[in-house]
Amino acid sequence: MKIAIIGAGLSGITAAKTLQSELGDKADISIFEKSRGAGGRMSTRRTEEFEFDHGAQYFTAKDARFQTAVEQAIKDGHVAPWNGTAKYLKNGTLEDDKGGDRFVSLPRMNSWIKAMAEGFNITTSARVGALSKSTDKKWRLSFEDGTQQDGFDYVIAAIPAPQAQALLTPTGFSQIQPIKDTRMEACFAVMVGFNKTLDLPWQTLRRADGPASWIAVNSAKPGRPESGTTLMIHSGSNWSAANVDRDKPDLQAEILADVTAELGIDFKDAAYMTIHRWLYAAVSQGAEQDCLTDKALGLITCGDWCLGGRVEGAYLSGLSAAEHVLSWAR
Ligand code: FAD
Repeated sequence: MKIAIIGAGLSGITAAKTLQSELGDKADISIFEKSRGAGGRMSTRRTEEFEFDHGAQYFTAKDARFQTAVEQAIKDGHVAPWNGTAKYLKNGTLEDDKGGDRFVSLPRMNSWIKAMAEGFNITTSARVGALSKSTDKKWRLSFEDGTQQDGFDYVIAAIPAPQAQALLTPTGFSQIQPIKDTRMEACFAVMVGFNKTLDLPWQTLRRADGPASWIAVNSAKPGRPESGTTLMIHSGSNWSAANVDRDKPDLQAEILADVTAELGIDFKDAAYMTIHRWLYAAVSQGAEQDCLTDKALGLITCGDWCLGGRVEGAYLSGLSAAEHVLSWAR
């Protein structure tokens, strides 16, 4: 049985790992990823001096299946709780930012996925541009560089909804409407590295929607390099949507000016700063199904957007995708 998984984020790697543990040698699993490595939106930007988790900041675990996975990852040294001081800035006053226990991957946000992905056949820098059936009725993947791979019995597209829509619409995928109805929002991530220690009364700060609606002291997470201070600043969904096509240097300046005006942090001494645009960062309207399937076609799509738009949802959706393939293959 040949299975193709498109996307090496948490949902895709969870699907791969679940299928492999159930099917062993009976399945030949290939993973295709358009970027240079596994991680997706749980990724880490590294420079010579600094590191930034510029996608997911931390995760919570409410579902028992995800809690079990997190507990195992803690035992294996890939995840740790992050009990940093969490504040919410409301009308100029710092309040406690309450929520469940927070976890991060160690020593970087992508480390857990990379550990899970070990041993898999992952082709990176491989963007799947089209899916089609070849003469033997198996799936053919066509890549943007003009190459193709054939012979797949099942395909799992573990990618954000707009990308799934583009890939699956031409196949006649029967559950296309929930994908079309899904809404994903952009986010700008500004990364700032200082060679000095900043004295801040919080390790994460949540604010109302605006240029800087979230600030985390990345260097304060467990297992991170201890010299200097790294800040991760995220713009809010509404502000990002209104500014999505503007030049990134202008947006970076606006985001930093917002932080300086509100919190007095001076960026003149920063040793490093850059901005990244996530087009599909968060989910404002999800599909609200574990994953979307078409048994007759042997196609599934999954991802965080199916189940709430967070790390936990990505894991559970990938798990569900694998369970469907297992039930079809029996
Ligand atoms: P992804 O991680 O997006 O993986 C999909 C993969 O598919 C990507 O690697 C992509 O490159 C690849 N791909 C796409 N199209 C193709 C193609 N055609 N061919 C090949 N490969 C393709 N969640 C939390 O729980 N807590 C947080 O604090 C949090 N903060 C966030 C902050 C930001 C700025 C962002 C961006 C996300 C945040 N999230 C957070 C959300 C969390 O990162 C996601 O829910 C989770 O990582 C999604 O995993 P996934 O596997 O569904 O998708």
